[in-house]
Amino acid sequence: MDIADEFITNFKATGWESNPQEKILEIAKHNSEILKDLLIKIIEEIPEGGTYLDAAFSFLSEENFREVISFTLENIKANGLTHANESAIEYASIQLPQILNPHLGYLSTVKSNQSADFSAWPWRNADSMEIKRLESILKDDSQSTDEKKYAWEALIATSNTEALEVASQYIANIKDREESDRDFFNMYSMAEGFEWEGKEFNKLYNDETYHLCFPKVYFENLEDSWIADVYDDHPTWYQCKQSESNSQIEVEFGGAVESKCGVCGEKLHGLVSLETIPENLGVSGLGKFSLVTCLSCLSWEEYTLSFQHESNGSVESLDIKDNKVEPEFPAVPLVKIKLSIKQLNKRWLFQSWGSSNSRENLNRIGGQPSWIQDAEYESCPKCDKTMKFLVQLDSELPTEDHDEWLWGSGGILYVLWCDDCKISTTLLQCT
Ligand SMILES: [Zn+2]
Ligand SMILES: [Zn+2]
Repeated sequence: MDIADEFITNFKATGWESNPQEKILEIAKHNSEILKDLLIKIIEEIPEGGTYLDAAFSFLSEENFREVISFTLENIKANGLTHANESAIEYASIQLPQILNPHLGYLSTVKSNQSADFSAWPWRNADSMEIKRLESILKDDSQSTDEKKYAWEALIATSNTEALEVASQYIANIKDREESDRDFFNMYSMAEGFEWEGKEFNKLYNDETYHLCFPKVYFENLEDSWIADVYDDHPTWYQCKQSESNSQIEVEFGGAVESKCGVCGEKLHGLVSLETIPENLGVSGLGKFSLVTCLSCLSWEEYTLSFQHESNGSVESLDIKDNKVEPEFPAVPLVKIKLSIKQLNKRWLFQSWGSSNSRENLNRIGGQPSWIQDAEYESCPKCDKTMKFLVQLDSELPTEDHDEWLWGSGGILYVLWCDDCKISTTLLQCT
């Protein structure tokens, strides 16, 4: 029996006791030539899929993923949607949306029932022909409102200028529609990082994306670190550390800073500090740049914490309380470390918190945020303009008292930025 058949037989006989996760990652990393055939067999024979299947998609080469998708589409035509075949579409739409391009016409007839979140993601890389097809749906009065909404979502998901123009014309012409329709369009475009400004869309993030490349040892000093366990199982961790690109930039991470929190009066906590800021991040006119928050007060005492940044790198709290609060959960800083930030392969530019299953490195500067809840682009506390996304940090980073830091119940911290006012705002989301 070959390795793929053995895997399927064992899983069918003993289920999770057969250790599918460990085995499939072993095959993915050391026997990648059979991975494609194994995934095809799983999609065919184990329609309920599972997190082990999801984890393996990250190891398929683009060429092999293309073949898995061809099989998946045949499988959907024959059996309808299953967890397994839908996962294949979902992970392709996140990592390699270009391989779905030839199939978008068909996919628009297959509506996802697993998660509404990713129903438009396959369109992330749609070409002009497809954009024209979506435009024709919007202009066709015989199409239902639902069909039009779906086409509109797909247009926004492309992030393509031409598509956004078509989508903006449509939204501008819905004067006599219900208020709830407007809310839908606003909410959806915000989720994709675009704010509707009455005439056109304002993009709320920058494309350039840098991952924070933590070394494995940073987590290994903790007892039972989940990240240390999965570090070698996802390219966003181990490739980040390995890749030697010239886009490499050194940053300082964690520690405490001299400035005080305006809420509790204690020292603020350092997040990322850069000596020079890459040009394409939407941060101008600053030399040194230190992002901070107060781990004790954020979300427990105040929903957001905002900071004024000066060109010499100093930072001051904008949430000044006359009577300082004693935090309910006082926290110590994140462990200080020097690390590099790098631009990884395009495949890892867009990451979904849910689909990452806590296995991916979601610690990033720039790019599209991985929201856990609805998108929250706060207004700048000074000029009231919608702030842009700048940085996100995931949970389970080590603190100075040898604990793992969780944002809320284990969510993500987001840093938003107003470049006109040089103000950062931090907030967190969790489940
Ligand atoms: Zn505080
Ligand atoms: Zn502002």
